[in-house]
Amino acid sequence: MSEGELVFPLKCGVQNYAWGKVGRESEVAQLQRAADPTLQIEESTPYAELWMGTHINCPSKVRTAKGTNLSLKDWITQHPEQLGEAITKRFGGDLPFLFKVLSVNKALSVQAHPNKVQAELLHRKFPDIYKDSNHKPELAVALTPFQALCGFRPVQQVADFLSKIEEFRAVVGGSNACKLISASKTLDMPLQREAMKDCFSSLMNQDPELVKSELKLLINRLQDLDSAGTDTSLWESRVLYKLYNEFPGDVGCFTVYFLNVVTLQPGEGMFLEANLPHAYLSGDTMECMACSDNVVRAGLTPKYRDVHTLCEMLDYTGKPANKTKFPGKSVTENGVTITTFSPPIRDFAVKKFETSPGVTSLQLPALPSPSITIVIQGNGVASNPTLESSLPVNRGEVFFTAINQTVTMEISSESMLLFQAYAAV
Ligand SMILES: [Zn+2]
Repeated sequence: MSEGELVFPLKCGVQNYAWGKVGRESEVAQLQRAADPTLQIEESTPYAELWMGTHINCPSKVRTAKGTNLSLKDWITQHPEQLGEAITKRFGGDLPFLFKVLSVNKALSVQAHPNKVQAELLHRKFPDIYKDSNHKPELAVALTPFQALCGFRPVQQVADFLSKIEEFRAVVGGSNACKLISASKTLDMPLQREAMKDCFSSLMNQDPELVKSELKLLINRLQDLDSAGTDTSLWESRVLYKLYNEFPGDVGCFTVYFLNVVTLQPGEGMFLEANLPHAYLSGDTMECMACSDNVVRAGLTPKYRDVHTLCEMLDYTGKPANKTKFPGKSVTENGVTITTFSPPIRDFAVKKFETSPGVTSLQLPALPSPSITIVIQGNGVASNPTLESSLPVNRGEVFFTAINQTVTMEISSESMLLFQAYAAV
């Protein structure tokens, strides 16, 4: 890359968290290998996350013919004008978002993220646990069928589980259960939220030994029903077995009866706003988030659990599963469909570009923000007025585009699928 080029490839790092898909099963591993054929995928290693951005824990580097010494962060520091005034003013001299690919095998912790005001307070009070003062909204757009727990179920569903599953009732407490069941028969939303909070907090603070023994009873009972040929799907048995296998005896297993089980089909999105409880369960997804590490966890994790903070901060409003999806807005022109996922925040938005078979070119329009783009499927070459020669962009390739730059791509494959993250300033 020569000085003055405003579109350039990035070398991005991978996080090998234990919950990631292992070896070649992992889309993260496949993408990294597609971008760098010299890379050997280790068949027993989990490849959980590909990080695209400037975050200090795994910073992307500018890739040049000579090597990759310069980090994207350093390049931005040297070229502040390429970030744009709107971003500099609002977020300081750095990208406000972190873009990722996730390949999930085992469940991630039950968690929620604070809003800005809460994040500032938590950071001030517990700087060792909450290391920054930023909020952390997250957007997921599925690459393969992607399953997650997300948001509280409608109160009637929780009441129904409490009525029919005695083990669930036992860990929530009889009087809390009664309160929720009677609240579910009213239209009193504040009362329903209060009952939901009482039940959920009671579970989260329950004696771990009781949780363990009740879980065991429930699992045995469901297995007996299964062997007798009874359909146990109404008890969410498949998700429960999965969680129980991965975290035997963990209180988080019971959260399947509080939280919606949502499956996103490829291309479907989910926006995890502040205070919405969630846990990713399985599948591959794009993810974009504000630059922050603020996670409040309460279950399905060996990490620190902050049960009190989580129970106090959650949004206990029940919603049906399909209401937790975040639809993008699609426009199709000349065989190219652009779907924009723009949540109600300024930190980021994501565009998905997909070409119909046979389309030979594609344009990424100029944006009032720099962007990071990843090629998920297809091959081609990219050009831009600042580039001396065109840039090969094949599957797995990640490239940075400075503010106000268009990128034109000639496509040499049957079709192409790209995702682009940018700040929505
Ligand atoms: Zn999260």
